[in-house]
Amino acid sequence: MHGKQAAISPVLEARLGLSIVVPDSLNTDTLGTFTGEVERPGNMLETAIAKARLGMQAAGTDIGIASEGSYGPHPIMPFVPLGRELIVLVDDARGITIKEVLLCETTNFHHVLAGSINGIDDFLERVRFPAHGLIVRPNRPTAAATRIVKGIQCRDSLAETILDSAESSSDGRARIEADMRAHQNPTRMAAIADASSLLAERVNSLCPSCETPGFGREGSEAGLPCSWCGAPTERVLREIFGCVACDYTEKKARGDGLTEADPGQCQYCNP
Ligand SMILES: [Zn+2]
Ligand SMILES: [Zn+2]
Repeated sequence: MHGKQAAISPVLEARLGLSIVVPDSLNTDTLGTFTGEVERPGNMLETAIAKARLGMQAAGTDIGIASEGSYGPHPIMPFVPLGRELIVLVDDARGITIKEVLLCETTNFHHVLAGSINGIDDFLERVRFPAHGLIVRPNRPTAAATRIVKGIQCRDSLAETILDSAESSSDGRARIEADMRAHQNPTRMAAIADASSLLAERVNSLCPSCETPGFGREGSEAGLPCSWCGAPTERVLREIFGCVACDYTEKKARGDGLTEADPGQCQYCNP
């Protein structure tokens, strides 16, 4: 619905040799929307798998691909926004699901409250308007049915919509936010392409034990030793790689080669 195939198909066709079809008349908004008119049931992974299966049913294929994004405050730095782009490949012929997640720190996910377009130029620059679309709604809607206007990419209609929304808000303010739908958001589209590359890499990685595609990082083990006292810290010591089909796992050293933790992260040296 949001043209994500422009980001996904070229990567997966080139790197996996898949030929990708996008079924028409597929409404994935029934599985939840960014703006919350339809609540998202289940977690991101369940939603993405459900989307892939909708597509597989419609197209009559054994393999389906879907992506799902979530945007919110950074867990460690709450004033910095963070995006998570999840992409899944469901393969019913092999009975496996392969997933990858990309963390996106360059996202334009922001919002502002305002009664008019005057004085929000800093915000408009931050959300990369008008190259990126905006969504406007009353901050505290007075009417029962909230009117949400999406995909605004022109300054005149933005100004007008802010005034309309502010008028139907009990606090006289409109809520203006970045439109995170892929076709309205080139930054997000690029993140989906990057997530597709991660997925392609993972599909091309075979399990050393059973040779099923999709072998990759599944988790990590804490305990990186403090560089002063050698005590284990909460930081990652080893990464755990696993198979999507069998129980085989491998523990590998951190990808960045770090072998000791900063004493500032040690509970003994920096209590
Ligand atoms: Zn220490
Ligand atoms: Zn395996």
